[in-house]
Amino acid sequence: MNIAIREKPIKLMWLEALKRRLTEKDIDFSYYNEQFRRVDAGFAGESRVDREWLELICPYTFFVLHNLNLMNSAQHSHQLDTLFICTNFMLVVEIKNINGRLDFDDITHQCIRTKPDGTVEGFPNAISQTQRHMQFLKVISQNYSLPIEGAVIIANPNAIIASHPNTIPIFHVSGLQKHLHSLFKKYSQATLSDKQLTQLAQHLLSKHQPLKIPAPIDPSRFRHGVLCPKCQYKFKMHYVRGFWICSRCHYASEEIFAEALQDYRYLVRPTITNKQLREFFNIHSSDAANRLLRKFQFPFSGSYKNRVYHLPENLVEYMKPFFRSS
Ligand SMILES: [Zn+2]
Repeated sequence: MNIAIREKPIKLMWLEALKRRLTEKDIDFSYYNEQFRRVDAGFAGESRVDREWLELICPYTFFVLHNLNLMNSAQHSHQLDTLFICTNFMLVVEIKNINGRLDFDDITHQCIRTKPDGTVEGFPNAISQTQRHMQFLKVISQNYSLPIEGAVIIANPNAIIASHPNTIPIFHVSGLQKHLHSLFKKYSQATLSDKQLTQLAQHLLSKHQPLKIPAPIDPSRFRHGVLCPKCQYKFKMHYVRGFWICSRCHYASEEIFAEALQDYRYLVRPTITNKQLREFFNIHSSDAANRLLRKFQFPFSGSYKNRVYHLPENLVEYMKPFFRSS
């Protein structure tokens, strides 16, 4: 058994940073808010389904891979929410976390959602998406001839699955265990040895392309500085002897800097110099900025004066042990 931990998608981290900093007056404010809502709901749905894998009792050796992003020969991406692979078969799982009534149209290949208030909306059809992924997996795993199955899982318990074609099973998350057990029965003979299975998983992981941060937006569009979480990120905090103090409510925090620097990493760039730190976070003294940068032992390049610090991923986690209070 081998279950990869699902990481927060980079797009969600980026949207979280933007949500804190984009001004309400911005022309795209509601667009990004809606994007955030969708991506955040998607991640919550995937995390909900992930819990089911932990409870799975599988008679065969298996891997569960999350958020695998593969490129096909036409350079189009296949983002697989979850791929279950065992010695007997593989299962492509597409996860949707939407509520309301869902109608999957087999002719138009559309998914139509009707909200309780009657609003009708179109969504990408998860059934067609799953079929597309299955076709592709067939090509890239052809040397292993493992049977490929697909399923669409609805993570929101309030969604009503109405009309849908019978091509791919579609069910609520609570049905996952039962569905897997029916597949264990259907494929009771192993196609691969444990060693071949591991090879296949490694083969797929080697083709994984991490998603990139969306195209940067102009820094003049978002609030700079360390922003006060108690004031809904609307007011700046000032740096006073190692602490950040809100100009409005006087809330003081040392650790809030980690979140702010993470925002900088996602919205501006993944490296920072002394000068850039002073400008973005409004620190007047070069020595203070220097002490702050060295405190976290970031990897760096360049000579003393032109030093460029490289901000690691998962910055908030990385910085935690360096704070006095931790
Ligand atoms: Zn405040």
